[in-house]
This record gives sequence, C-alpha cells and structure tokens, in this order.
Amino acid sequence: MLIVQKYGGTSLQDAGRIRAAARRITGLAQQGARVVVVVSAQGDTTDTLIENAVKINRRGSAREMDAYLAAGEQMSAGLVTMAIGAFGYPAVSLTGAQAGIHTDDVHGNARILRVEPDRIQKELAEGKVVVVAGFQGVDQQGDITTLGRGGSDTTAVALAAALGADRCQIYTDVDGVYDRDPRIYPDATRFGRIGYDKMLSLIENGAQVLHDRSVELARDQGISIEVLSAFSGNPGTIVG
Ligand code: ASP
Ligand code: MG
Repeated sequence: MLIVQKYGGTSLQDAGRIRAAARRITGLAQQGARVVVVVSAQGDTTDTLIENAVKINRRGSAREMDAYLAAGEQMSAGLVTMAIGAFGYPAVSLTGAQAGIHTDDVHGNARILRVEPDRIQKELAEGKVVVVAGFQGVDQQGDITTLGRGGSDTTAVALAAALGADRCQIYTDVDGVYDRDPRIYPDATRFGRIGYDKMLSLIENGAQVLHDRSVELARDQGISIEVLSAFSGNPGTIVG
C-alpha cells in the first residue's frame, strides 16, 4: 500500500500540530504502508513572506520571489521529517527539485510538465517516509518555480499519479468539501463524494478547499482525492 498524504498550513501551524501529523504518518508506516508526505508552509507563512518581499522591492523579480517563497515549504518539510525522526522512524525531506517535479518556467504560476520520481522511489525502497516540500518544482534551467497559491495540493496529486499511489489524502482544517464555506455558514452540508466537474465549479465559485489544477490533474489521471480534517477524525469527502 502506497499512500500520499498532504498536510496544509493550518495542519502544521505549530509544534503540537506537526507532532500530531508525524504521529499519524509514523503509525501508518509502522503498519507497513509506504508513505509520501507533501507539506505546505506553516500557518500564514507564505502571506508573511510575500509581505516581507514587497517591503524590500514592490516589483521584485518573479524568479527571486519563487526562490524566497519556496523556502516556506522547505522549512515545513524539515520540521515534519525531524518530528517523524523523534518518533524513531526513518524519514527524509526533499525539495520539489529533488523529488523530480519538473515544471515550465512561468514563475509564480508554473505548471508541472512531468515527474521523475526515482529519488522518491529509492528512499521508499530503503524503508523511509519521504517528506516533499509542496508548491514548488524546477524548470528546464534548474531554477526554482512555484505552482500558484494553494499549489501543494497539485504536488500531492502529481506525485500520487507518478508513483501509482493507492490513496491520495489531503489533510486540511475542514472535514471535507461542503456546498458552502462551513466556517461562515453553520448549516452548510458536506458531500460524502463529489465528481470532478462539480468540484471544479465549486472552486470557480470561490471554494478554497483544493487547488483547481489538482482537481483537473486528478480527473485527467483518474485519481480519487480524499479530503480529510487533520483534527476531527471524521470521514471527509472523496473527490472523483
Ligand atoms: N504555501 C502556499 C500557499 O499558501 C502553497 C500551499 O499552501 O499549497 O499558497
Ligand atoms: Mg498555504
């Protein structure tokens, strides 16, 4: 069983939440699953980084912005890997480039062109949990690119496709996909299952639970995405 799990920023907000994610990941690995974890930057890190950059140069180059923003996910990857290590399980962190995520050169909104997962497969074969920095890749010139806001979801789906994963789980701060934003509308109802096109139309109407490209990629590759709460233990929503 090969599982790709993605953890969003709120699911990794502080040391306690990182430890909780690491505990879940370690538990799965100890049961014999091969686990690839994709992480977002912690909490509002990406917003803070953007504010910092704008203070330095309002019209900084998109290439430098990507080099800077990608660090948020790399920090998460390092911390989650150390947390898994603290539970006594072997794990390794990889940047998008190390994980073989090749993109075009549209800095700030790059598209994944192909995934070369040999390094991930080598680490899995050595019995490690592999923790990949989401939201980033590398272009033809070897420069760091980012995939657009929320792009870690797309990293997870692309890796699930490239690795032929049995499951692709997206852990977030809501327990699934709702017909309206459950944080604003208490009577919103959760979908047990939702089709790709319905999901895409919810995103078009402002739902932020998944990156649009992740759903398009899942549809094109025939991958089901499980959207789950990192906190509640509730069943979540299957997209696809
Ligand atoms: N950290 C990036 C963002 O906030 C990417 C992601 O979370 O998926 O947009
Ligand atoms: Mg984020």
